[in-house]
Amino acid sequence: MILKNHESDNPLQTAERDVVALGIAVAAVLLLIATGGAVLPSAVRSLLGDGSAPDRLLVSALLLNLALIIFGWRRYWELTREITERRRAEEQARLLAATDPLTHCLNRRSMIEVTEGMRAAALERGDALAYCMIDLDNFKQINDMYGHTCGDAVLVKLCEKLRTLLPREARLARLGGDEFAFVMPYPVGHTDRLDDLVIRLFASVAEPLEVNDVTLEMTVSIGLATDHDDDGALGPVVEAGTLMHRADMALYHAKKQGRNRHFWFEPSMENELRFRNQLETGIRRGIAQQEFVPFYEQQIDIDSGELVGFEMLARWQSEQLGLVRPEIFIPIAEEMGLITALSEQLMDRAFADAREWDDSLTLSINISPVQLRDPWFAQRLLKRLVASNFPPRRLEIEITESCLHENVGLVRSMITSLRNQGVQISLDDFGTGYSSLEQLRSLPFDRIKIDRSFISELREPSGQSRLVDAIIAMGRGLDLPLTAEGVEDEDILNALRSMGKLKAQGYVYGKPETAEEVRRRLSASGKLSATGKLANAAPRAAAPVALPQSKPRAASS
Ligand code: C2E
Ligand code: CA
Ligand code: CA
Repeated sequence: MILKNHESDNPLQTAERDVVALGIAVAAVLLLIATGGAVLPSAVRSLLGDGSAPDRLLVSALLLNLALIIFGWRRYWELTREITERRRAEEQARLLAATDPLTHCLNRRSMIEVTEGMRAAALERGDALAYCMIDLDNFKQINDMYGHTCGDAVLVKLCEKLRTLLPREARLARLGGDEFAFVMPYPVGHTDRLDDLVIRLFASVAEPLEVNDVTLEMTVSIGLATDHDDDGALGPVVEAGTLMHRADMALYHAKKQGRNRHFWFEPSMENELRFRNQLETGIRRGIAQQEFVPFYEQQIDIDSGELVGFEMLARWQSEQLGLVRPEIFIPIAEEMGLITALSEQLMDRAFADAREWDDSLTLSINISPVQLRDPWFAQRLLKRLVASNFPPRRLEIEITESCLHENVGLVRSMITSLRNQGVQISLDDFGTGYSSLEQLRSLPFDRIKIDRSFISELREPSGQSRLVDAIIAMGRGLDLPLTAEGVEDEDILNALRSMGKLKAQGYVYGKPETAEEVRRRLSASGKLSATGKLANAAPRAAAPVALPQSKPRAASS
């Protein structure tokens, strides 16, 4: 039954049946000519009273023929109309399938076809073809901050800007999200045309954009690839897919280099991406196999010279790469959405380690801005503290100024609920970001950590730095305790001693150490807790940090 309905709805089958109807009509016409030839003369004669009435059967056949002809023609016209309608609908569907509904540019799927077609045409004419990928920097922030309607409007406006700039022979596509691409033929050897175009594009995008009563400033990153291997370094491009992939790699490179810039594809980018993929796989496996370990850096009270706590610094003991520093893997883990899992794994180990230390020693932990986007961050952290039986008053979390741009309201409420439980909050790398005095005053920080780039200025023979003086004066004004980071030598330490009450950390006290090394240090100075002493007395099954034998590619600090 269902099948029958479906069949009768299928326009193609209806059309086929109607072709049969047209055939019947044609046959009927032929039949009419045959029967009409016999019936009509006798009918005329009979009407003129000049003969007998025509055969009734033949007259019926003639009338039936006429009815069939009328039926056939009617169906034929219906059929023609139906087919025209269908063509229009198909055209519409094809257009919808090939274009992006928001910007009406081509979409990713049709762009592949278009590029392939243009590549073949350019090749025939002796032209080169360039494929250019454009990605809006920080589009996610625009979406988060002003909503998706605003985000959509931004995309439409960007698309308009691109359309105005592109030459007639170029084709533009929205590949998805905030990613656009255009493909364009150009005379061989004239990549400068593309460079000029891209520079105009940057200038146009940089003009402030008015959307829904807000003024937005945008930048884009751009990756380019050509199918013409002018100097033989790239190898020929034989299909559109390769060209697109190369532009994608160049775009990725542009993003890595700090966004708001453009790059042409180069073969080295392929290695870069391969290495990145290798890192991604490694990080995933590293988390599963618990290859991430905490190292600890001492924090000292300058006045008394006493050890007051440790900052936990993540290290990756990778089987392939050796000991890897956080600057390499933290940003990738953030992008992969794995930073929370990674950080929580490290925290659990750090809480367990720090429970073996004297109860007076604090533990500082770095928190990524990505982790702070999670509205449940504070709750998760407090739950972990309870599970590890680690007192919140011994914990200090370090956040950087970049956290404050994203959602100050959310950050403030998280800081407040953590502080209510006794956790202390430090502002890390102070001076390298853009926190306003207003933010500093209104957010309840417990400490400011002066970035090591300022502290290193104290190495000057004068032992002075106006910036450090100013930061210290400001901290005092706001009644915030200060820590100086990156204290590398005695000269800097002496300069700091004259600047009042400060905590310090840095290579002058030694490099960051493993949990085992810290335990030995604390054992020697009688600063292990009762649990720590017990654990220290018991022989260890395996050293928690057994460094791999292979030569590390990325050395530890
Ligand atoms: P940071 O929080 O500013 O950490 C201080 C960095 O300076 C550490 O590098 C430390 O080894 C290095 N350092 C310490 N003393 C000196 C010194 O006297 N001179 C010099 N030149 N450097 C010194 P590290 O361990 O490579 O960490 C780099 C950054 O990675 C950290 O900067 C922190 O922002 C981030 N990080 C480390 N561990 C974690 C983590 O578990 N989670 C997150 N989200 N970030 C982490
Ligand atoms: Ca830190
Ligand atoms: Ca720092």
